[in-house]
Amino acid sequence: MRKLLAATAAVSALLIGQAARAAPYAGVDPQTLNRIADAGFNHGEVVQTIEYLSDQIGGRMTNSPAMRKAEAWTQKKYTEWGLKNVHKEGFEFGRGWWIESAHVRMITPRPIELRAIPLAWSPATNGPVTGAVVIAPIRTEADFAKWRGKLRGKIVLTSAPTAPKDEKDPPFERLTDADIAKLDTYRQPSYDPANLERAATRAAFNLKLDAFLADEGAVARATMSRSEGRIVHGEGSGFRSGQTPKTPAFELGAEDYRRLARLSKSGEVTVEVDSKVHYDDSDTKAYNIIADIPGADPKAGYVMAGAHLDSWVAGDGAADNGAGAAVVMEAARILASLNLHPKRTIRFALWAGEEQGLLGSWAYVNQHLATRPSNDAAAKYGPYYGGDTFPITPLAGFGEMDGYFNLDNGSGKIRGIFTEGNFAVAPIFKSWLAPFASLGASAVVAEPTGSTDHVFMVKLGLPAFQFIQDPLDYESRVHHTDLDTFDHLRTEDMRQAAVILASMLIDAADTDPPLPHNALPTTPSATDPFKFDDPTPPGR
Ligand SMILES: [Zn+2]
Repeated sequence: MRKLLAATAAVSALLIGQAARAAPYAGVDPQTLNRIADAGFNHGEVVQTIEYLSDQIGGRMTNSPAMRKAEAWTQKKYTEWGLKNVHKEGFEFGRGWWIESAHVRMITPRPIELRAIPLAWSPATNGPVTGAVVIAPIRTEADFAKWRGKLRGKIVLTSAPTAPKDEKDPPFERLTDADIAKLDTYRQPSYDPANLERAATRAAFNLKLDAFLADEGAVARATMSRSEGRIVHGEGSGFRSGQTPKTPAFELGAEDYRRLARLSKSGEVTVEVDSKVHYDDSDTKAYNIIADIPGADPKAGYVMAGAHLDSWVAGDGAADNGAGAAVVMEAARILASLNLHPKRTIRFALWAGEEQGLLGSWAYVNQHLATRPSNDAAAKYGPYYGGDTFPITPLAGFGEMDGYFNLDNGSGKIRGIFTEGNFAVAPIFKSWLAPFASLGASAVVAEPTGSTDHVFMVKLGLPAFQFIQDPLDYESRVHHTDLDTFDHLRTEDMRQAAVILASMLIDAADTDPPLPHNALPTTPSATDPFKFDDPTPPGR
């Protein structure tokens, strides 16, 4: 009897075992999942990684000396952790740029230091220069005529100050279940062929405004911060060789900008600006950092996690996107430390040039996945303004990519994942995330997301995704600002994110069959073929 029972038990165990192995999209075995959790929660290193990136290296503008340090340091860490195929992949970018020091102060009617940052890639002043302030709202080329001959020697504030707004939302936020439920609505894609042209017109206007101010002999240009609380950003353009701006340019804190504007109504206001900034042309190429955990089956392709390593420079690039980069690196460290042998290769990518229009991930797409015809806007202003061209020509590596997971929403913990228009993947991700319900990470939602490095892969129909993360104070205060420092990170959240990312990667690497792909996109039909074009004016 006993024997029989034991035999029956053995047979059913075997059957269950076979059923588990045979179940499609079963993902990783449960024991491995617990080892991942142990490696992340009890033996984690993500805090050390993000501290080094944000405190020691700091803001990492693409091609700046700090970014070069980060490129070298991340490769060194990957090698120490036992990752394979660690290397950098270059793409043509342009000039490096960095700030040694800068200040702006009002001299008359009274001395006061102003909160200011040079706009990225703007030229140095070559010592302190002084000029009278003039408010010259210039929104379109048509406005140039109004100001011609009036700007010589002036510090030009190129927009009218906007009024302060009541801030009703709390600056620090975690998503409620109701917030997450709202994300689970599929928005149908819309296609308006005129959109690209409008975006390109806006990008072109910035270059024209700079040239106009330089021709007129303006001393400097000042823009107003879009945030309250003397928070500044310093985003700028002109990184391509041959497109360097000619006029020194600063962003001023909103309160300081408004004060200058008010005072200039009642008398002369003079300001001293000083911007000691440097270009670095030692290497015009930017570099993505790649590292692999090789798959057991060389024909099974690869899955990938990615985050951009570059940042703006007002802060330390801690939350945007040191946090995402550190979590990707930590997932790599965890998986390498467990000596796993996934079926597919697991690749880790740290992108450059994200802040200038997703240039690093675009370069990867072009080098490994597929090419698209260039058009004028893409050639001049980057893929963001013209990357939607057809036909798509898949490269040899196109069929090898079976999943991409992106992190770029600050340091908030993972609450789930966006399916990005891939309907078939929803039930699969629900089962893969189910073990993490107690970590608050089980939502699978349909709202599409944009503006970061998974985008150009989604546009090829590849299974590429971004996670839902708790917002914390990312959008309200930290994103691209001088507050993007270590204190605004939640490192416990980052540990959670690394464990979940590692687990999703091993699920995707082992799953049979591979994650479902979308159809290869071809030219969409216009969503509203009867629409009349209503171009918005360029500039702000
Ligand atoms: Zn970012």
